Amino acid sequence: RASSESSPSSPAKDVENVVIIGSGPAGYTAAIYAARANLKPLVFEGYQVGGVPGGQLMTTNEVENFPGFPDGITGPDLMDRMRRQAERWGAELFQEDVESINVKTSPFTIQSSEREVKSHSLIFATGAAAKRLKLPREDEFWSRGISACAICDGASPLFKGQVLAVVGGGDTATEEAIYLTKYAHHVHLLVRRDQLRASKAMQDRVFNNPNITVHYNTETVDVVSNTKGQMSGILLRKVDTGEESVLEARGLFYGIGHSPNSHLLKGQVELDSSGYVLVEEGTAKTSVEGVFAAGDVQDHEWRQAVTAAGSGCIAALSVERYLVSKD
Ligand code: FAD
Repeated sequence: RASSESSPSSPAKDVENVVIIGSGPAGYTAAIYAARANLKPLVFEGYQVGGVPGGQLMTTNEVENFPGFPDGITGPDLMDRMRRQAERWGAELFQEDVESINVKTSPFTIQSSEREVKSHSLIFATGAAAKRLKLPREDEFWSRGISACAICDGASPLFKGQVLAVVGGGDTATEEAIYLTKYAHHVHLLVRRDQLRASKAMQDRVFNNPNITVHYNTETVDVVSNTKGQMSGILLRKVDTGEESVLEARGLFYGIGHSPNSHLLKGQVELDSSGYVLVEEGTAKTSVEGVFAAGDVQDHEWRQAVTAAGSGCIAALSVERYLVSKD
């Protein structure tokens, strides 16, 4: 597995070729490519999402848009397949969270809950998490009425042809609302403030769309269900008057942003103002040579399993080139 400190590809015991942090589509794809390139990658899978490896897709039932699965596949099944593929090619997997990293000196140091390793290169693929409202019944209806991804879930039978709502007033929420009008009967946009924060162009698109109703000064309090236990509406409260009402809706989409899991790199590689890892355009290169980033932690725009996997591939191929160039 390991190589010497002075020469990245020569055999020795104490320094890895590449360490990958994260077990979502980006991390596992990077692991598959790095393992097939004989780099013997070491993967810290983490267990932050639901106490299991696999990342965000472990929390979803049906993935309908990952190529190669015409009938769809469950999130956990898809991630189990990626994991087994990485293992089959020789990636070494540890179900441990990384607790600290030092990329200020090379070889880099990675400290997990169980061990410390040194590595010539690092692929950072720790993902992001959709911000949640923490409604009282949120966990009960997560993926059964509440979603944080219109592109992923908008066309599903649960939501198609239904009245839906999106919470938020920025670009994400307005984009989600516009997207959902393709499938929904009608979309309500629930905005806490007395105006939208979205760009002028997005605002115009919302105002010109007859299938979107904007509710200002409106706080989302909880979801309500019918006698069959299905989500049937949303409890709202007017911020100015405190008046409460129930809006009939079969789905609630969160458009209040995402938090990238980048705190381990803070102060060591360049992040943008929202905490996303900055990579050189069209590459996986961060501001530190030998440190690469892939997936949602560096992508505030697309955030899809297939784009995460694609960037994991780019990161692993970049590592391969980097190690050869250092040889
Ligand atoms: P993630 O999947 O977020 O994985 C990050 C990994 O890093 C996790 O395993 C985490 O445990 C690990 N990690 C974090 N910190 C540490 C640490 N300190 N040490 C070790 N490991 C760590 N996309 C689609 O294309 N189609 C869909 O149908 C779809 N449905 C979705 C449904 C839901 C409910 C959600 C939330 C997202 C959905 N997405 C979907 C989006 C998709 O899941 C993400 O774009 C994708 O998972 C991003 O992959 P990633 O590898 O960048 O990160």
